[in-house]
Amino acid sequence: MKKWFILIVACILCSCGTGVNGPFMEPNGKTKVLSTTAMIDDLVAVIGGKEIDHTSLIIGDLDPHSYELVKGDDEKLLAADVIFYNGLGLEHGASLRGHLKSHGEAIGLGDILYRENPASFITIDGSLDPHFWMDVALFSQIIDPIVTTLSAKDPSHAELFRERGTALKAEMIAKDRALMEEVQSIPPQNRYLVTSHDAFYYFAKKYLSRPGEENWEERFMAPEGLAPDGQMSILDIQAVSEFLCEHQIHIVFPETNINQDALKKIVSICREKGLHVKIATTSLYGDTMGVKGTGADSYLEMIEHNVRTLSQELPQE
Ligand SMILES: [Zn+2]
Repeated sequence: MKKWFILIVACILCSCGTGVNGPFMEPNGKTKVLSTTAMIDDLVAVIGGKEIDHTSLIIGDLDPHSYELVKGDDEKLLAADVIFYNGLGLEHGASLRGHLKSHGEAIGLGDILYRENPASFITIDGSLDPHFWMDVALFSQIIDPIVTTLSAKDPSHAELFRERGTALKAEMIAKDRALMEEVQSIPPQNRYLVTSHDAFYYFAKKYLSRPGEENWEERFMAPEGLAPDGQMSILDIQAVSEFLCEHQIHIVFPETNINQDALKKIVSICREKGLHVKIATTSLYGDTMGVKGTGADSYLEMIEHNVRTLSQELPQE
Protein backbone atom coordinates (compact mmCIF):
# COMPACT_ATOMS: atom_id res chain seq x y z
CA MET A 1 0.00 0.00 0.00
CA LYS A 2 2.75 2.39 1.05
CA LYS A 3 4.83 1.48 -2.05
CA TRP A 4 1.89 2.21 -4.35
CA PHE A 5 1.31 5.56 -2.68
CA ILE A 6 4.98 6.60 -3.18
CA LEU A 7 4.86 5.45 -6.82
CA ILE A 8 1.68 7.41 -7.55
CA VAL A 9 3.10 10.60 -5.94
CA ALA A 10 6.34 10.20 -7.95
CA CYS A 11 4.37 9.74 -11.18
CA ILE A 12 2.24 12.81 -10.48
CA LEU A 13 5.37 14.93 -9.81
CA CYS A 14 7.04 13.71 -13.04
CA SER A 15 4.03 14.13 -15.29
CA CYS A 16 3.15 17.58 -13.93
CA GLY A 17 6.59 18.78 -14.92
CA THR A 18 6.94 21.03 -11.88
CA GLY A 19 10.03 23.26 -11.78
CA VAL A 20 11.50 25.19 -14.68
CA ASN A 21 9.67 23.23 -17.39
CA GLY A 22 6.26 23.34 -15.72
CA PRO A 23 4.64 26.47 -17.19
CA PHE A 24 6.83 26.19 -20.29
CA MET A 25 5.17 22.93 -21.28
CA GLU A 26 1.62 24.02 -20.41
CA PRO A 27 -0.54 25.60 -23.13
CA ASN A 28 -1.67 28.90 -21.53
CA GLY A 29 -1.64 31.41 -24.38
CA LYS A 30 1.75 32.90 -23.47
CA THR A 31 4.64 32.95 -25.97
CA LYS A 32 7.03 30.07 -25.21
CA VAL A 33 10.62 31.24 -25.57
CA LEU A 34 13.48 28.74 -25.46
CA SER A 35 17.08 30.02 -25.39
CA THR A 36 20.04 27.74 -25.86
CA THR A 37 22.27 29.44 -23.25
CA ALA A 38 21.48 30.71 -19.76
CA MET A 39 23.02 34.09 -20.67
CA ILE A 40 20.48 34.70 -23.44
CA ASP A 41 17.63 33.31 -21.31
CA ASP A 42 18.51 35.77 -18.53
CA LEU A 43 18.01 38.77 -20.84
CA VAL A 44 14.87 37.24 -22.37
CA ALA A 45 13.43 36.82 -18.84
CA VAL A 46 13.93 40.51 -18.05
CA ILE A 47 12.39 41.70 -21.34
CA GLY A 48 9.51 39.22 -21.47
CA GLY A 49 8.65 39.27 -17.74
CA LYS A 50 5.44 37.49 -16.73
CA GLU A 51 4.06 37.99 -20.21
CA ILE A 52 6.08 35.05 -21.58
CA ASP A 53 7.16 31.57 -20.47
CA HIS A 54 10.86 30.96 -20.92
CA THR A 55 13.57 28.43 -20.21
CA SER A 56 17.09 27.58 -21.35
CA LEU A 57 18.23 24.36 -22.97
CA ILE A 58 21.85 24.18 -21.79
CA ILE A 59 21.97 24.46 -18.03
CA GLY A 60 24.58 24.32 -15.28
CA ASP A 61 28.14 23.57 -16.31
CA LEU A 62 27.31 21.82 -19.60
CA ASP A 63 29.48 22.80 -22.55
CA PRO A 64 27.43 24.76 -25.13
CA HIS A 65 29.96 24.11 -27.93
CA SER A 66 29.40 20.37 -28.10
CA TYR A 67 25.96 20.12 -26.48
CA GLU A 68 23.89 17.24 -27.86
CA LEU A 69 20.18 16.88 -27.17
CA VAL A 70 19.20 14.75 -24.17
CA LYS A 71 15.92 13.16 -23.09
CA GLY A 72 13.29 15.85 -22.65
CA ASP A 73 14.91 18.39 -24.98
CA ASP A 74 12.74 17.35 -27.93
CA GLU A 75 9.62 18.32 -25.97
CA LYS A 76 11.08 21.73 -25.11
CA LEU A 77 12.07 22.36 -28.73
CA LEU A 78 8.60 21.33 -29.95
CA ALA A 79 6.82 23.49 -27.35
CA ALA A 80 8.90 26.58 -28.23
CA ASP A 81 7.22 29.28 -30.31
CA VAL A 82 10.61 30.97 -30.63
CA ILE A 83 14.16 29.73 -30.07
CA PHE A 84 16.98 32.21 -29.48
CA TYR A 85 20.48 30.84 -29.93
CA ASN A 86 23.94 32.38 -29.74
CA GLY A 87 25.06 31.48 -33.27
CA LEU A 88 28.54 32.32 -34.66
CA GLY A 89 29.13 28.56 -34.59
CA LEU A 90 28.76 28.16 -30.81
CA GLU A 91 26.09 25.44 -30.86
CA HIS A 92 27.83 22.92 -33.09
CA GLY A 93 26.62 19.65 -31.53
CA ALA A 94 25.05 17.81 -34.51
CA SER A 95 21.65 17.01 -32.96
CA LEU A 96 21.09 20.55 -31.64
CA ARG A 97 22.32 22.16 -34.86
CA GLY A 98 19.89 19.98 -36.84
CA HIS A 99 16.93 21.14 -34.71
CA LEU A 100 17.94 24.80 -34.97
CA LYS A 101 18.06 24.49 -38.76
CA SER A 102 14.67 22.81 -39.06
CA HIS A 103 12.74 24.93 -36.50
CA GLY A 104 10.75 27.64 -38.25
CA GLU A 105 11.51 30.32 -35.64
CA ALA A 106 15.08 29.75 -34.48
CA ILE A 107 16.95 33.04 -34.34
CA GLY A 108 20.75 33.21 -34.14
CA LEU A 109 21.26 36.49 -32.28
CA GLY A 110 25.03 36.68 -32.81
CA ASP A 111 24.56 35.91 -36.52
CA ILE A 112 22.11 38.82 -36.88
CA LEU A 113 24.52 41.26 -35.20
CA TYR A 114 27.44 39.94 -37.26
CA ARG A 115 25.58 40.56 -40.53
CA GLU A 116 24.81 44.15 -39.39
CA ASN A 117 28.31 44.96 -38.16
CA PRO A 118 31.02 42.33 -38.79
CA ALA A 119 33.76 44.68 -37.55
CA SER A 120 32.52 44.26 -33.95
CA PHE A 121 33.30 40.55 -34.02
CA ILE A 122 36.57 38.69 -33.53
CA THR A 123 38.05 36.05 -35.81
CA ILE A 124 40.65 33.64 -34.39
CA ASP A 125 42.66 31.50 -36.81
CA GLY A 126 39.99 31.95 -39.50
CA SER A 127 37.04 31.06 -37.24
CA LEU A 128 34.49 33.48 -35.83
CA ASP A 129 34.79 33.72 -32.06
CA PRO A 130 31.31 33.02 -30.61
CA HIS A 131 32.02 34.28 -27.04
CA PHE A 132 30.63 37.79 -27.59
CA TRP A 133 28.75 37.78 -24.25
CA MET A 134 32.14 38.60 -22.70
CA ASP A 135 31.71 42.22 -23.92
CA VAL A 136 28.67 43.55 -22.04
CA ALA A 137 28.01 46.49 -24.41
CA LEU A 138 28.23 44.24 -27.47
CA PHE A 139 26.00 41.60 -25.87
CA SER A 140 23.42 44.31 -25.03
CA GLN A 141 22.82 44.62 -28.78
CA ILE A 142 20.87 41.34 -28.74
CA ILE A 143 18.13 43.20 -26.85
CA ASP A 144 16.73 44.84 -30.04
CA PRO A 145 16.11 41.60 -31.98
CA ILE A 146 14.65 39.99 -28.83
CA VAL A 147 12.22 42.92 -28.35
CA THR A 148 11.27 42.86 -32.06
CA THR A 149 10.64 39.11 -32.03
CA LEU A 150 8.60 39.07 -28.79
CA SER A 151 6.57 42.06 -30.01
CA ALA A 152 5.74 40.34 -33.31
CA LYS A 153 4.55 37.27 -31.38
CA ASP A 154 2.50 39.29 -28.88
CA PRO A 155 1.76 42.80 -30.22
CA SER A 156 -0.51 43.63 -27.25
CA HIS A 157 2.59 43.79 -24.98
CA ALA A 158 4.97 45.35 -27.50
CA GLU A 159 5.23 48.65 -25.60
CA LEU A 160 6.06 46.82 -22.36
CA PHE A 161 8.78 44.75 -24.07
CA ARG A 162 10.24 47.92 -25.61
CA GLU A 163 10.32 49.76 -22.24
CA ARG A 164 11.98 46.84 -20.47
CA GLY A 165 14.47 46.44 -23.30
CA THR A 166 15.42 50.12 -23.17
CA ALA A 167 15.91 50.00 -19.38
CA LEU A 168 17.97 46.79 -19.59
CA LYS A 169 20.20 48.24 -22.29
CA ALA A 170 20.86 51.36 -20.18
CA GLU A 171 21.73 49.14 -17.19
CA MET A 172 24.11 47.04 -19.27
CA ILE A 173 25.86 50.06 -20.82
CA ALA A 174 26.36 51.58 -17.34
CA LYS A 175 27.70 48.24 -16.05
CA ASP A 176 30.03 47.97 -19.06
CA ARG A 177 31.62 51.32 -18.13
CA ALA A 178 31.90 50.40 -14.44
CA LEU A 179 33.56 47.07 -15.27
CA MET A 180 35.96 48.79 -17.65
CA GLU A 181 37.00 51.23 -14.91
CA GLU A 182 37.50 48.41 -12.42
CA VAL A 183 39.67 46.32 -14.77
CA GLN A 184 41.61 49.34 -16.01
CA SER A 185 42.53 50.17 -12.39
CA ILE A 186 44.80 47.09 -12.46
CA PRO A 187 48.24 48.26 -13.71
CA PRO A 188 48.66 47.60 -17.49
CA GLN A 189 51.77 45.43 -16.97
CA ASN A 190 49.63 43.02 -14.91
CA ARG A 191 46.55 42.93 -17.12
CA TYR A 192 47.33 39.56 -18.74
CA LEU A 193 44.99 36.62 -18.56
CA VAL A 194 45.53 32.88 -18.98
CA THR A 195 42.52 30.54 -18.71
CA SER A 196 41.60 27.06 -19.98
CA HIS A 197 40.13 27.84 -23.43
CA ASP A 198 39.82 30.73 -25.89
CA ALA A 199 36.69 32.24 -24.31
CA PHE A 200 38.13 35.60 -23.28
CA TYR A 201 39.26 37.41 -26.45
CA TYR A 202 36.25 39.79 -26.39
CA PHE A 203 36.98 40.39 -22.70
CA ALA A 204 40.65 41.05 -23.44
CA LYS A 205 39.89 43.46 -26.28
CA LYS A 206 37.27 45.40 -24.32
CA TYR A 207 38.49 45.44 -20.73
CA LEU A 208 42.08 44.19 -20.38
CA SER A 209 43.72 46.22 -23.15
CA ARG A 210 44.09 49.99 -23.19
CA PRO A 211 41.37 51.68 -25.31
CA GLY A 212 42.52 51.40 -28.94
CA GLU A 213 45.48 49.15 -28.09
CA GLU A 214 46.66 47.53 -31.33
CA ASN A 215 47.98 44.22 -29.99
CA TRP A 216 45.06 43.51 -27.67
CA GLU A 217 45.17 39.79 -28.62
CA GLU A 218 48.40 39.54 -26.63
CA ARG A 219 46.51 40.24 -23.39
CA PHE A 220 45.02 36.74 -23.32
CA MET A 221 46.09 33.18 -23.98
CA ALA A 222 44.70 29.68 -23.34
CA PRO A 223 45.91 26.16 -24.13
CA GLU A 224 42.58 25.05 -25.64
CA GLY A 225 41.01 26.65 -28.72
CA LEU A 226 37.67 28.36 -29.34
CA ALA A 227 35.85 25.16 -28.33
CA PRO A 228 37.22 23.14 -25.37
CA ASP A 229 36.33 19.90 -27.16
CA GLY A 230 39.04 20.51 -29.78
CA GLN A 231 42.45 18.89 -29.90
CA MET A 232 45.18 20.35 -27.71
CA SER A 233 48.85 19.70 -28.40
CA ILE A 234 52.01 19.94 -26.33
CA LEU A 235 52.91 22.90 -28.57
CA ASP A 236 49.82 24.76 -27.26
CA ILE A 237 50.92 24.01 -23.68
CA GLN A 238 54.47 25.20 -24.39
CA ALA A 239 53.22 28.38 -26.10
CA VAL A 240 51.20 29.29 -22.99
CA SER A 241 54.14 28.65 -20.67
CA GLU A 242 56.34 30.88 -22.86
CA PHE A 243 53.63 33.57 -22.72
CA LEU A 244 53.64 33.38 -18.92
CA CYS A 245 57.44 33.68 -18.80
CA GLU A 246 57.52 36.56 -21.30
CA HIS A 247 55.03 38.66 -19.32
CA GLN A 248 56.10 37.37 -15.88
CA ILE A 249 52.58 36.19 -15.06
CA HIS A 250 52.33 34.17 -11.85
CA ILE A 251 48.72 33.05 -11.96
CA VAL A 252 46.40 31.12 -14.31
CA PHE A 253 42.63 30.89 -14.00
CA PRO A 254 40.60 27.68 -14.29
CA GLU A 255 37.15 27.79 -15.85
CA THR A 256 34.17 26.36 -13.97
CA ASN A 257 33.24 23.75 -16.60
CA ILE A 258 36.68 22.58 -17.80
CA ASN A 259 39.08 20.23 -16.04
CA GLN A 260 42.41 21.67 -14.90
CA ASP A 261 44.76 19.09 -16.48
CA ALA A 262 46.19 21.47 -19.09
CA LEU A 263 46.72 24.25 -16.52
CA LYS A 264 48.51 21.80 -14.18
CA LYS A 265 50.88 20.83 -17.00
CA ILE A 266 51.56 24.50 -17.74
CA VAL A 267 52.32 25.22 -14.07
CA SER A 268 54.74 22.29 -13.98
CA ILE A 269 56.57 23.39 -17.19
CA CYS A 270 56.87 26.93 -15.77
CA ARG A 271 58.34 25.57 -12.53
CA GLU A 272 61.04 23.80 -14.57
CA LYS A 273 61.83 27.16 -16.15
CA GLY A 274 62.06 28.80 -12.72
CA LEU A 275 58.77 30.73 -12.90
CA HIS A 276 56.43 30.15 -9.98
CA VAL A 277 52.85 30.04 -11.28
CA LYS A 278 49.76 29.13 -9.25
CA ILE A 279 46.28 28.07 -10.29
CA ALA A 280 43.74 30.56 -8.90
CA THR A 281 41.46 29.05 -6.26
CA THR A 282 38.42 30.84 -7.73
CA SER A 283 37.34 29.75 -11.21
CA LEU A 284 36.11 32.06 -13.94
CA TYR A 285 32.93 31.53 -15.94
CA GLY A 286 33.88 31.03 -19.59
CA ASP A 287 30.95 29.36 -21.35
CA THR A 288 28.36 29.22 -18.59
CA MET A 289 26.98 31.15 -15.66
CA GLY A 290 26.38 30.03 -12.11
CA VAL A 291 23.38 28.15 -10.83
CA LYS A 292 21.23 29.54 -8.01
CA GLY A 293 23.16 30.33 -4.84
CA THR A 294 26.56 30.89 -6.49
CA GLY A 295 26.22 34.69 -6.65
CA ALA A 296 26.76 34.42 -10.41
CA ASP A 297 23.31 33.18 -11.41
CA SER A 298 22.44 36.15 -13.61
CA TYR A 299 24.33 37.30 -16.69
CA LEU A 300 25.61 40.54 -15.12
CA GLU A 301 26.49 38.85 -11.81
CA MET A 302 28.48 36.26 -13.75
CA ILE A 303 30.53 38.93 -15.53
CA GLU A 304 30.94 40.82 -12.23
CA HIS A 305 32.22 37.61 -10.61
CA ASN A 306 34.89 37.31 -13.32
CA VAL A 307 35.98 40.95 -12.95
CA ARG A 308 35.99 40.79 -9.15
CA THR A 309 38.10 37.61 -9.27
CA LEU A 310 40.67 39.26 -11.56
CA SER A 311 40.75 42.42 -9.43
CA GLN A 312 41.45 40.31 -6.34
CA GLU A 313 43.98 37.94 -7.90
CA LEU A 314 46.04 40.03 -10.34
CA PRO A 315 48.78 42.14 -8.72
CA GLN A 316 47.69 45.75 -8.08
CA GLU A 317 51.17 47.23 -8.32
ZN1 LIG B 1 33.80 28.49 -25.21
